Amino acid sequence: MLDQSPDTTRPAGSGRITADVVIVGARAAGSSLAIHLARQGRKVVAVDRATFPSETMSTHVIYPNTLARLEDLGVLEEIEAHGPPPLYTSWYHEGRMFVAPHTPERGRDWAHCVRRVTLDDILVRAARRAGATILEGHRATGFIGAGTGDDPLRGLTCLTPEGAEVTIEADIVVGADGVNSALARHVGLDREKVMPTETMLYYAYWTGVDTRNTQDFFFECPWICAHFPADDGHHVITMNGPAEARKEMGDLQEFYLDKIRSIPALAARLKTATQVSRVTGTTRLDGFYRQHTGPGWALVGDAAHFKHPASAQGICDALHAAEVLAEGIAAGDWATSYPAWRDAESPELYAFCKHLREAPSDAAMRVVMDAFIKDAHLARKMVDVWARSSRPWTDVIPHVPGMEQVTGLSVESVLAEFAANTRVAAPKPAAIAAE
Ligand SMILES: Cc1cc2nc3c(=O)[nH]c(=O)nc-3n(C[C@H](O)[C@H](O)[C@H](O)COP(=O)(O)OP(=O)(O)OC[C@H]3O[C@@H](n4cnc5c(N)ncnc54)[C@H](O)[C@@H]3O)c2cc1C
Repeated sequence: MLDQSPDTTRPAGSGRITADVVIVGARAAGSSLAIHLARQGRKVVAVDRATFPSETMSTHVIYPNTLARLEDLGVLEEIEAHGPPPLYTSWYHEGRMFVAPHTPERGRDWAHCVRRVTLDDILVRAARRAGATILEGHRATGFIGAGTGDDPLRGLTCLTPEGAEVTIEADIVVGADGVNSALARHVGLDREKVMPTETMLYYAYWTGVDTRNTQDFFFECPWICAHFPADDGHHVITMNGPAEARKEMGDLQEFYLDKIRSIPALAARLKTATQVSRVTGTTRLDGFYRQHTGPGWALVGDAAHFKHPASAQGICDALHAAEVLAEGIAAGDWATSYPAWRDAESPELYAFCKHLREAPSDAAMRVVMDAFIKDAHLARKMVDVWARSSRPWTDVIPHVPGMEQVTGLSVESVLAEFAANTRVAAPKPAAIAAE
């Protein structure tokens, strides 16, 4: 059936709108928050400078816990219509491998890889169906209020695609606007507990790949290449390695293809395939937290908390945080309940990222491969860390001899390394500069 929801891509009437909540950013965090709030009967407006469908940098793997959240948001069926294959996880190292499913959640023990060109567009349309106004191609250019106790945030201004200014007044202003959050800059937030990365991540899309129902990680230490079969016949082939190598790589495309050629099992499945995008990625993958709430404002998704993408937690976390913030808004205690949830829920996974943001060594990989090849149950517990249904320091590390030397002795000992790391925010701009 055709989508018969009203056109909410444009503000109706004048250049002034009032809402209960206005959100900057309409991808995983922003659109899912808009769905929850619209379901509560609130008037919610989200602005995004992007138009949809469109890409954003990600390698797009989501696990059974996130599939359950997408089901609750009413979008899983539409996502599955794009045919992302169900994926178990496999690791290859020195001629050995294991493959593991997840512990099922609602009967699903697999992951999916869904490109954001597909996922975010589906979320945006679902938010409109729920009753939210999503303004595409609208860049937030300034905020109303300083975000302090005596001058809380009360709205924002944005530019339409035609260059007209629109003012949106709201009781709560939410930044779902990614790692370089304009709202965070406006209220002068620093990045806290910064976890510097030692590795970079690059990838390209392919079609015509000899496919399978696994997401495969090929450990050629200190490099890792991975293959994620995705939606609509696309495949993501990634290259993860020491960030310091980026300067010496020369031609990125050639370096990427050489890395793939050096892994015979991966090269063989790409023999008749076509690379359909340029190689993209970044060395800027430092983890951080930001203060989550203040007078009249909140941050969700990457704007609030970023983790190394080898954890593949960004989408899951954006959806989960939006759910918790929406519950807090419904209960009237969002300013405290939402940060309290983060403090309770995130430390162990963030600590595990210390290991994921480092380039692996063969010695460390032998330790873990020995254990997971021998014990399929333990291998499942390991991959379940990504699905958040097992806990690294409780369910995995104590059962793998030598693994605590690889990952760190305890959550507290690992996090202590980063507790004092702060990166000071850039000075507050008079208005948000165009990029
Ligand atoms: C290389 C890489 C690989 C990754 N792989 C995975 C993975 O496999 N699985 C996973 O779960 N996560 C992965 N992630 C993380 C994941 O992509 C992010 O966590 C996720 O995109 C966060 O969603 P978000 O909605 O918070 O922010 P974003 O997706 O960054 O969206 C922010 C939106 O805000 C808009 N915006 C910003 N400023 C303004 C403004 N001034 N006005 C209007 N709009 C504005 C932007 O246009 C954008 O659409 C990866 C990340 C990277 C970098």
